[in-house]
Formats: sequence, structure tokens, C-alpha cells
Amino acid sequence: MNSRREFLQKLTASAMAFSILPEFENEITKYNNDQPYDGPVLRVAIMGLGSYGTRVAEAMQSCKMAKLTGVISGTPDKIKNWQTKYNIPEKNCYNYENFDSIKDNPDIDAVYVITPNALHHGQVIRVAKAGKHAICEKPMALNAKEGAEMVEACKKANVKLLVGYRMHFEPKTLEIIRMRNAGELGKVLFFQGLCGFRIGDPTQWRLNKQLAGGGSMMDIGIYAVNGSRYMIGEDPVWVTAQETKTDPIKFKEGVDETIQFQLGFPGGAVASCLSTYIMNNLDRFFLNGEKGFAELQPSTGYGPIKGRTNKGELDFPHVTHQTVQMDEMAAIILQGKQPVVPVDGEEGWKDMKIIDAIFLAAKTGKKTAIKW
Ligand code: NAD
Repeated sequence: MNSRREFLQKLTASAMAFSILPEFENEITKYNNDQPYDGPVLRVAIMGLGSYGTRVAEAMQSCKMAKLTGVISGTPDKIKNWQTKYNIPEKNCYNYENFDSIKDNPDIDAVYVITPNALHHGQVIRVAKAGKHAICEKPMALNAKEGAEMVEACKKANVKLLVGYRMHFEPKTLEIIRMRNAGELGKVLFFQGLCGFRIGDPTQWRLNKQLAGGGSMMDIGIYAVNGSRYMIGEDPVWVTAQETKTDPIKFKEGVDETIQFQLGFPGGAVASCLSTYIMNNLDRFFLNGEKGFAELQPSTGYGPIKGRTNKGELDFPHVTHQTVQMDEMAAIILQGKQPVVPVDGEEGWKDMKIIDAIFLAAKTGKKTAIKW
């Protein structure tokens, strides 16, 4: 039995075990459907054929509603390889100088920007000006100001801007959100988000302030920032933060190695989080309410995600995050579907605004208000 069918059967069985909120019905119906799909398909060009771009392209081979039809890269050899592997015609191949002419290409609906962080802002704005929908990797930008400009440019061009928050479609994550919304955890009061890995090669762009915009926080800490919001279900109003550094040679000025931060939420909940580039296997979310708890560990890796609550193990099978993400994003763009947790530009901008405040709080040592 293939894993998709297993997923469908398990999901249907679990769905029958509890009453399904209407917002989850679509997910369940869609995956409980082995029929060939003959509706509209989102035709996507990937910009940046690096390690994550490669993962997304592979995952898209199993998509029903999204198809890889183009590439944008500065490396001709990579383009040739991808053309052969994914049957991409020459007319759908671009480089970083000429990709504005994608506006004249009727066979590409959207561009997925998967380049180093500092390039997202300019590239997304160029995609919008070319009249194509933009999907942008996290972090969407280097700061909230850039993020707001990207949102504005996409609005002006009347195209959608989505951010690659794959966890927003992950079944165990969605089940915890369902439980919280249904009041099964009681009033939610505490979240802990621990996110980190040991980063290798000191010469990579992730450790270059100009290209990364920071260090661990922009890359992996953003999962705790974003996760605190979708787990608690509110946006924070204050932050405190403390930065520590054990290796100032590898982690230069402006490139954070480890940041602890605390967030305060309007309903009274608090979050306590850690972002680091010096510890492996640090990938844990923990949510506690007045009545119950939910835990994910691993919580944001490529999976399988594991979870339990005070009611027991979360029994949902593993899905390939990027396959589900791209099918769901196609439904958002083509059918106006509303996801349970938003993945639009405003959502990305909120995280940038919080990260700006975390950096400021770490620098000043002061509790910093976040005004929305
Ligand atoms: P990578 O280094 O493997 O790939 C980056 C690509 O961008 C390379 O192909 C490189 O050639 C190209 N590039 C274009 N201009 C460049 C320049 N001026 N300098 C360096 N490279 C340039 O990186 P990656 O791991 O694929 O990360 C790319 C983006 O994807 C980042 O924003 C990262 O945060 C994000 N990402 C997201 C996830 C996720 O799970 N959502 C996972 C990994 C990475």
C-alpha cells in the first residue's frame, strides 16, 4: 500500500474518532481521494537550485495541483541537469539577469524563491512586477521593513505572496491546533520552542551577515517565533532576549550563535524559546494549558514529526511536507482556499517584526514592546 493511501486511510480513521471542525474537512477530503486529478494546476518556476530547491522539486513530483515547469539559476550546468530530470523546456529557463521576461511566459504562474535570505526582497519584488505569484522561503526578508515592501509590491501587482511555512500543513501540528481551538487544552498559558542544529562550514552564506541577515535566529529560531504564534493562537506584544556566544570567530558580529527569548501574549500566555547553531537534535515544541498539554519532538524537521498530548500519542502518519505545502499553496492561489494557519506575506512580515524586536531586546537588554 502506498504511503499516501495509508495516510488517507489513517487520516479518515482518526477523523472519524473525533468530530471534525469544518476547517479541516477539505484536508481530509482531499487526501481521501485516490482519483486522478484533472482540475487546474499551478505551474511553478523554482529560483535557486540549491539544497532546499532540490528537495522542493523532488517533493513536487508527487503533487496533484502544482507542477514544476521552469527554473531560474545562475549556473547553466544545473539548469541542464534539471531540464533533463524534470523535462523543462528551454523557453522556461532563466538566469538572474533576464528573469524579468518571465512576464511574457504564459506557461509559468508562480515563482518559488529559494535563494539566500538577503536576495528574497529584491527577487520577490521583481517576480511581482513580472505579474507572477510569488512563493518565498523563510525568512521572507532581512527585517520587517523589507517584508512590508514585498507585501505592498505584490498587492500593487495584484499577485499573491506566500511564505514557505511547510509546518502550517503538517497533520500533527494541525491536530494540536484543532484541540486548542476546541478547548481541549483549556486556556493556553505556556509555550516552549527549542530550535537548533550544529552548523558546519564556516564559509557558507548562512554565517555571512550580508547574505543571511543574522545567524541561527533567521534560519532556525524563526520556527520557534512562528510556532509560538500558531501554537498559542495569538501574536506577542512584548519580548525579552539574551544572546550568548561561545565561538566569536565562527559567529562574527551580527551573526547570532545562540539567543534565548521570551514572548508575552495578550491573553496572558508566555513563551520561552531557544535558537542555536551549536546543538544538534534540538527540535521541540511544548504547549500547556489549564487542562492539558501537547508536545511535538521533533517538531519542525522534515519528519516524521512525533507528538503526544495528555490524551496520548498523536497517531497521524508522516507526509512529505513540501508535497502537501505545494498542493495546498496551489489551492490557495488557484481557488482562494483559506488555510487553517495563514501562509501569506503578512504572516511572514509578522515574524520579521518579532525578530526585529528580539534583536533589539538582545542588544539593549530591555523588555521591548511589539506594537501591531
Ligand atoms: P543553498 O545554499 O543550498 O542554496 C541556495 C541557492 O541560491 C544556490 O543554488 C545558490 O547557487 C543560489 N544563489 C543565488 N545567488 C546566490 C548568492 N549571491 N550567493 C549564494 N548563493 C546564491 O541554500 P538552501 O539551504 O537551499 O536555502 C535557501 C533558502 O531556503 C534560504 O532562505 C533558507 O532559509 C530556505 N530554507 C528553507 C527550508 C524549509 O524547510 N522551509 C529549509 C532549508 C532552507
